Amino acid sequence: MYDLHEKLSDIYAEVVRRNAGETEFHQAVYEILTSLAPVVAKHPEYAEAEVIRRLCEPERQIIFRVPWLDDQGVVQINRGFRVEFNSALGPFKGGLRFHPSVYLGIVKFLGFEQIFKNSLTGMPIGGGKGGSDFDPKGRSNREVMRFCQSFMTELYRHLGEYTDVPAGDIGVGTREIGYLFGQYKRITNRYESGVMTGKGLTWGGSRVRTEATGYGTVFFVDEILKADKQSFEGKRVVVSGSGNVAIYAIDKVHELGGTVVACSDSSGFVVEDAGIDLETLKEVKEIRRGRISDYADLRPAAQFHGDSNIWKVPCDIALPCATQNEITGADATLLIDSGCRIVAEGANMPCTPDAIKLFDEAGVTFAPGKAANAGGVATSALEMQQNASRDSWTFDVTETRLAEIMARIHDTCLATADEYGQPGNYVAGANIAGFIRVADAMLALGLV
Ligand code: NAP
Repeated sequence: MYDLHEKLSDIYAEVVRRNAGETEFHQAVYEILTSLAPVVAKHPEYAEAEVIRRLCEPERQIIFRVPWLDDQGVVQINRGFRVEFNSALGPFKGGLRFHPSVYLGIVKFLGFEQIFKNSLTGMPIGGGKGGSDFDPKGRSNREVMRFCQSFMTELYRHLGEYTDVPAGDIGVGTREIGYLFGQYKRITNRYESGVMTGKGLTWGGSRVRTEATGYGTVFFVDEILKADKQSFEGKRVVVSGSGNVAIYAIDKVHELGGTVVACSDSSGFVVEDAGIDLETLKEVKEIRRGRISDYADLRPAAQFHGDSNIWKVPCDIALPCATQNEITGADATLLIDSGCRIVAEGANMPCTPDAIKLFDEAGVTFAPGKAANAGGVATSALEMQQNASRDSWTFDVTETRLAEIMARIHDTCLATADEYGQPGNYVAGANIAGFIRVADAMLALGLV
């Protein structure tokens, strides 16, 4: 763990006291604060206006009951959340997560991260996040639809294309966005396309949104490699997860000449030295909605390991794309010892502070999620642009825009890290650049 500057340490203590038990939220705040000492020193105006304290308090937090009937006619009750964290730069923007682990602390950590990530994209979007402790796994389509309709029956009153614009996250893909958007349309009697992103292509969605987070993460790593006069060619890559982010990260690594040798889900991981076969993985995960062991059943050259430690598989580049805190200090040591040189976060906060510190000390290049996985939300903002102009761009045009945005985020991180005396430090660059844009907007908008 790093030591915090005195003023920042007071803010952190207050966050812990006011948000008891929300450990993931504490961790996300701590991670930002570790970078802000040079900013506070250079810009006393932020401290005078208490910008950091204000940033740590969401503008609005909504918690609601979600009652629904399962296929047996039994009443089920879940809890819904939307944390509207900061709208200084634009309408609240951030995904919905449906997973049994969801509680207020997870939603606040994700919403807090989202503020700085959205700021880094340079686009006009504020930060928010939401979700529910509902578990879509093993539920029928009809059950998922009934749950989504009940969830939106409360949430719709807080949304709007100029107010709050949700998207997907873990457990929320195009199917769920469809049911949610359909219920919003029914209740409001408005085809307000810009109120949600991640929509299907025939009903207002953007090309490349499905691929954007995974592709964007790999574009970001490609920029890191290019800055070092290298490429993906011949690199061994390990990607955790096998959901939306992981699948399209694997796709783009292979297109750029690297080999993804392992991927996972919460039941274990598979290794295939010649490279994960994307068509088989998509068949297992997107069509059958099966387990990762099914991949090994279909691919004789692949081995399934029923434990969660994918990080013991040697690689040059690690892309954690599953969930928070999946790379601990011990996992970081495994990666460093096996020769890994780059770690980029496709997921949100997959590396613990201990792991990040170890990467830093070992000279492993570390790209934090708020920069490396910003391609998803950036493409959501492109989807909002297309909706606003009632237009639909081609795949190539949209992918080119995404690649340009990721290159710009990369360059902004490096330039800001340089400016604040920490050359090559992507964590400092992302945190400081993300913070300054939103802090300046907050100063301009007054005490609101
Ligand atoms: P997803 O499609 O639901 O996939 C999540 C994947 O992670 C699944 O393979 C899941 O396996 C695995 N996973 C979840 N919890 C796990 C655990 N405790 N241990 C091991 N594996 C676990 O979700 P996603 O959209 O790809 O999101 C993945 C991460 O990226 C999240 O941190 C999310 O916040 C972040 N992210 C997503 C986007 C986006 O556009 N989708 C944008 C930015 C950041 P099981 O199926 O076994 O649970």
